[in-house]
Parts: sequence; C-alpha cells; structure tokens
Amino acid sequence: MGELTGRCFCGAVTWSAPGPVLWAGHCHCESCRRATSSPFTSFFGVTRNSVSWQGDLAEYLTSDGKVRRQFCPTCGCQMTYQANWWPDETHLYAASLDDPSSFEPQGHYHYAEKLPWVEITDDLPKYAASADTADPLPEQ
Ligand SMILES: [Zn+2]
Ligand SMILES: [Zn+2]
Repeated sequence: MGELTGRCFCGAVTWSAPGPVLWAGHCHCESCRRATSSPFTSFFGVTRNSVSWQGDLAEYLTSDGKVRRQFCPTCGCQMTYQANWWPDETHLYAASLDDPSSFEPQGHYHYAEKLPWVEITDDLPKYAASADTADPLPEQ
C-alpha cells in the first residue's frame, strides 16, 4: 500500500496517511467485536500524527480512560482505535479504505476469543492475544 485514503459510510469523514503501515491484521477480541458489531474486525496501524482528517470525529473513551474509539457522528461508522499503551499509533479499519482490496493482513490477533462459528482457512499466524505479547498458536 502506498498513499492510504479512506472514508466513513456517509462520506462526512475522510482521512489520508502516507504510510508506512506498521502492522495489519484481524482482531477477534470481544471489545472490537462489540464496538464494530461484527464477529471480528480487520485493521492496521499507522503513526498517529501521520493521519490527516477531514470532517469531525466523535469519540468513545472507555471508563478506565485507556482506549479511545473514534467514529463519524453522522453515520456512526467506526474510524479509529487508539490505546494508551500504543501512544504513537492509530489503528484504522481496512474496510474504511477507499480500496479495501489493497489490505494485506499479517495475522489473526486475540484468536483465543474467536467465535466458534467463524471458520478461518488462511495460513496467517494466529496469536492468542496481540502479536507483541504472545507467541503464535500452534497450527490448528
Ligand atoms: Zn459518516
Ligand atoms: Zn480487538
């Protein structure tokens, strides 16, 4: 992926970032599942200050103050994930890319929380938690 661009569902919010992509993958954790109302979500990290935004974002800050999820206030589309423990990163959703087919996932994260009716058949590494806290799960 070169220059990255994306938008929300209604188009009121657009973003662009020069890259590079720091990591990319699928997250099966329950908080991503709840926030996106989807069985898992696919996103990627970029340097937080590298993203240019057009349009206003609303946000939801978790009660412990550690995780911020930003979304379009008009259509409700999830746009970012930011966590205190990755202060220089913003995670953007693959599905918000103008060209989502360009997304290149590198693994499955929080695979221990995967829903039993989601069947994954790719050969990507599967991590029980996040890539920097866990070894890949054995082949299954
Ligand atoms: Zn919108
Ligand atoms: Zn997650």
